[in-house]
Amino acid sequence: MRLYLMRAGTMRATGGPVPAYLIRHDDGDVLIDTGYARSRAGAYADEPKEPIQLERGEDVVSQLEGLGVDPAGIKDVIVSHFDPDHAGNLDAFPQATFWVQREHYECARSGDVPRLERFKKLWDFPEERFGLIDGDHEFRPGIELVESGGHIPGHQSVLLRPDGAAPLLLAVDAVPTAADLVADERAIYPFDVDEARVRESTRKLAELARREGARIIHGHDPEQWKSLPLAPEPYPL
Ligand SMILES: [Zn+2]
Repeated sequence: MRLYLMRAGTMRATGGPVPAYLIRHDDGDVLIDTGYARSRAGAYADEPKEPIQLERGEDVVSQLEGLGVDPAGIKDVIVSHFDPDHAGNLDAFPQATFWVQREHYECARSGDVPRLERFKKLWDFPEERFGLIDGDHEFRPGIELVESGGHIPGHQSVLLRPDGAAPLLLAVDAVPTAADLVADERAIYPFDVDEARVRESTRKLAELARREGARIIHGHDPEQWKSLPLAPEPYPL
């Protein structure tokens, strides 16, 4: 397994990255999250309220092409959740199944979370395009999906177990920065839907990482991402 961490834009409020992750695996490429819509590249320059600074060529689709990966050939896209900084480019993957927690998919379809309604065109694909996952699940050898709802119902994180290397936990938005790792003390952010579940998922991921000896990669941590090797460099496993 080879892993590429992609920084696909910057949150203007915090300087944190917009994250996406490519796994080149014996059984085929697996993309985790698709970043912010490529149509928004450069838009921030004229729009003071645009929350994400995305440069031209920095979007996930451009970065994949830079790695020699044809987006149209990707069969598996794991989606942590449907927020626009994670599900902004599903339309660029016409052959892919979008793997999401069933709870998240049903929550989106229910209309219960207004922000998912607002960005519905990003994720509103026919049901047969989705692979629905129930809770923690071994997706492929070495790739485990970990239910971590609270930020939004049915958010999922990913535990990677590369051969011969320490595991890595991609926490995504369940624990967006290293400072959020203490369940009872961590910040609750404006887009966190359910405080009790945020704390429960934080505890779950912190314990999982401890048990497995896994390094945690946080979804939006400005400091951590400064020190990570990013695509086009592979992450050393
Ligand atoms: Zn996010």
